[in-house]
Amino acid sequence: MVSRVIPVDPFDLVIFGGTGDLARRKILPGLYRRYCAGQMPEEARIIGAARTEMDSAGYREMVSEAISEFGGKDACDNLDAFLAMLDYVAIDARGETGWAELQQMMAGKDRIEVYYFSVAPGLFGDLAERLQQWGMAGEDSRIVVEKPFGRDLASARALNATLATYFKEQQIYRIDHYLGKETVQNLMAVRFGNMLFEPLWNRQYVDHIQITVAETVGVGGRGEYYDKSGAMRDMVQNHLMQLLCLIAMEPPARFDPDAVRDEKLKVIRALDPVLPHHLVRGQYEAEEGNEEEAPSYRDAVDNPRSRTESFVALKAHISNWRWHGTPFYLRTGKRMVARSSEITVVFKDTPHSIFAEDAGRHRNVLSIRLQPNEGITLGVTIKEPGPGGMRLVDVPLDMTFAEALGPDGGDQVDAYERLIMDVIRGNQTLFMRDDEVEAAWAWTDPIIQGWEARNDVPKPYDSGSTGPTDAGEMMRRDGREWRKVSP
Ligand code: NAD
Repeated sequence: MVSRVIPVDPFDLVIFGGTGDLARRKILPGLYRRYCAGQMPEEARIIGAARTEMDSAGYREMVSEAISEFGGKDACDNLDAFLAMLDYVAIDARGETGWAELQQMMAGKDRIEVYYFSVAPGLFGDLAERLQQWGMAGEDSRIVVEKPFGRDLASARALNATLATYFKEQQIYRIDHYLGKETVQNLMAVRFGNMLFEPLWNRQYVDHIQITVAETVGVGGRGEYYDKSGAMRDMVQNHLMQLLCLIAMEPPARFDPDAVRDEKLKVIRALDPVLPHHLVRGQYEAEEGNEEEAPSYRDAVDNPRSRTESFVALKAHISNWRWHGTPFYLRTGKRMVARSSEITVVFKDTPHSIFAEDAGRHRNVLSIRLQPNEGITLGVTIKEPGPGGMRLVDVPLDMTFAEALGPDGGDQVDAYERLIMDVIRGNQTLFMRDDEVEAAWAWTDPIIQGWEARNDVPKPYDSGSTGPTDAGEMMRRDGREWRKVSP
């Protein structure tokens, strides 16, 4: 199956933080792949803007190395033409350096202007202010704001208010790269493009839903930042919350940005507060025999008394007609047994079994894998082949995209690539709105405050495990079990 590529209109993209880790690893290699795919017009311009002193030639060299190192080099044989689209300006978000030069570069062009804030969150407000001061916050310009968007409700509100001083909500693109993943969008296609699922998508037929985002990596070089954040802020408030919204929301009337985001917001606002015994926090231990390379969380963040969690499991309830009484189990952690992100809808047992007791308990399970091997599997119960009576067995109806859609379907566009193209097209569907972000913090804040008030100490868990045993216990108390975390 050949994917259709529709080129975007000519644009100027300024990447503040254009020399940083995210720009080098994701944004620039992603843009090159879009260029190779024929999605970027020849007139497009990419301007790196960062504190480092260098000229455009030096920047092109840096970007060329980044593309070689972080993928995309083989996307086509046209790197030089892509590099010719790049310029650089040394700039200080908090000072005056570079702004006049940038203003000059952007002047007099009738094309889409995008300013990507790929810098520390403390600079988001400064950049917005400077852009306005220097006359670059025009009606048609857009800003892309990286995560984290605040660290609690108060800071998110303050940031929203600051950005709103200079830009309209329709100009602000808050990025959550999880929303750019192919399978996440497929979730909407599967739910709302098929008759099969939606009638069953409710408390009457669904026993429970699980969302797991497991990582094998530890905090790595992000220790200092992570220790002030933790899994709840770093993963649950944004990524897992977004997945929860898409799986639980009502069908929007149209696939348009505000219709979708209105429905997501209703889900967040309908979430009950989480009870303390429906929460498990964990912190990983060192890998036995490999303490040097895989140290414990506390050693990795260089804080022997740290009480920050690298793992969270929780049970959430949504108080509305569709989901009343149906638990949503969320779990995420670092240094787990496998890298795997999966949403699983576990349907209820059939109301009555016509088969003998030894036929066993069987239920339909729909699992949506985000990574690796993006795809969707539906567990269906059939008769075990062969003689010997009616024995039942569960088999997967497997739709691994790479297999089902052929090489082009399998060779998927990275989330950042897709999202940047969406910004240029002016499509906000896959970006979080101000009220959504605030509602998510309003739900998360009391959980974090509760831990702080109780002086909660995270439970240790082994590196390479599925998290603290308490997480399994929480499920067993409900007569359920977590899905296996497998690569
Ligand atoms: P980084 O530290 O590697 O890069 C920071 C960039 O900001 C550099 O280009 C630096 O020159 C520039 N900078 C710093 N101070 C400046 C100033 N005063 N004026 C102008 N430029 C300045 O950071 P990063 O890892 O690339 O992260 C950038 C943003 O993206 C952060 O908000 C981060 O939370 C977010 N993010 C990063 C990742 C990732 O994988 N790196 C993932 C998700 C979100």
